[in-house]
Amino acid sequence: MFQRILVANRGEIALRIIRACREMGIETVAVFSEADRGAHYLDLADEKYCIGPAAATDSYLMIKRIISTAEIGNVQAIHPGYGFLAENAHFAEVCRDCNIEFIGPPHKAMAELGDKVSAREIAMKAKVHVVPGSDGLIADEKTALEVASRIGYPVLIKATAGGGGKGMRVAMNDMALKAGLKSASAEAEKAFSNAGVYLEKYVENPRHVEVQILADNHGQVVHLWERDCSLQRRHQKLVEESPAPNLPLSVREDICKAAVRLVKAAGYTNAGTCEFLVDADHQFYFIEVNARIQVEHPVSESVTGIDLIQQQIRVAAGEKLDFKQRSIPCNGSSIEIRINAEDPAQNFRPCPGTITKLRVPGGPGVRFDSHVHEGYTIGPWYDSMIGKLIVHRKTREESLACLRRALDEFVIEGVKTTIPLLRKIVSHSAFIEGQVDTTFVERTW
Ligand code: ADP
Repeated sequence: MFQRILVANRGEIALRIIRACREMGIETVAVFSEADRGAHYLDLADEKYCIGPAAATDSYLMIKRIISTAEIGNVQAIHPGYGFLAENAHFAEVCRDCNIEFIGPPHKAMAELGDKVSAREIAMKAKVHVVPGSDGLIADEKTALEVASRIGYPVLIKATAGGGGKGMRVAMNDMALKAGLKSASAEAEKAFSNAGVYLEKYVENPRHVEVQILADNHGQVVHLWERDCSLQRRHQKLVEESPAPNLPLSVREDICKAAVRLVKAAGYTNAGTCEFLVDADHQFYFIEVNARIQVEHPVSESVTGIDLIQQQIRVAAGEKLDFKQRSIPCNGSSIEIRINAEDPAQNFRPCPGTITKLRVPGGPGVRFDSHVHEGYTIGPWYDSMIGKLIVHRKTREESLACLRRALDEFVIEGVKTTIPLLRKIVSHSAFIEGQVDTTFVERTW
């Protein structure tokens, strides 16, 4: 097992990794930008190093600074968290070339699955349904129009390198398709330095269901059941839960098995997530793989009792998974909500500022994963997440009651937050009945 790990991230996920390591008796080296200097969570690491100014491109995304810190800190492995360098296959390769284990998948599998077009090809080979769409990238306008007339409008233009909803456009007709191709491609080039786009049939009012996977380096691949992440705003998740409500066990099992097939076909190891859309008839379609730990991993930890970060570290150290698929339970119901420093009344504009008062809920069934504290300043530099509130109870009804109670206890002053909107969401009849799809938030508010 590793003795020391560098945590190449910040905020709540850096703290989550530091905590997992501490429980395993592994020392941690934290890195921080000048904007994060003084944040309390850094004190929980064994060592910490400043790696540059606030701008992520000059600090958290600077591979050479992270690698030199890993050498100075004398670590055997790097955990990338999510975001920043987590899905950068080049970074994973550089780490391993420097004899530092990258806690994540092999860089080749990451590159193949990180690209949505090649991930679709692997899925098709593994006999996993994909959304009907173009065969590979769209070469020109003429091909796009032909594909659209074959699959029928509405269609979705998607960036092959996409993430965070960037480079995605819905088109209802030929004219919108032509304009959308240009703007999606330009946006993708700017965000990912890759202008490649492809077409998918736009699935109307789908649910988003994803499967948590764990695979070791000895050929064992298991799933940790599914998460329903249908509650989104502009294709960004707000609420996630496990198990998916109102989805028959046979469908859930089929989706999970499809995910395992796909991951095996890709030669993927470590933790990952296969995302699917599920239509009104419970037909499911693969959309993409996230080759990293995800923000919403705690709901899977709650229902299975498996610590995903610790498992990632064990797998990277070459250990075998010490459980089999049949012994992974899906106990009770777990729901996570993301609390962001944003103003829902101002179109969710980020609201940087200092937290002047903080009262965090607790009690049975409540977990709060966050790095913030009273006096903490949320800067304009990184994402606006304050923390994740996770509940876990025996039934969904009890989880909902626990969530409402916990949200009532929450006090955050000094910055605007999404809590008022989340309170409305968790009290809405459609959510209580487990009847929301990915368009619910936009349609309702
Ligand atoms: P990104 O990587 O940019 O987050 P994803 O492929 O994960 O993009 O899709 C994000 C969200 O966009 C999905 O959860 C879903 O709400 C929506 N979406 C993606 N593909 C489709 C599709 N073919 N039809 C309808 N909605 C889609």
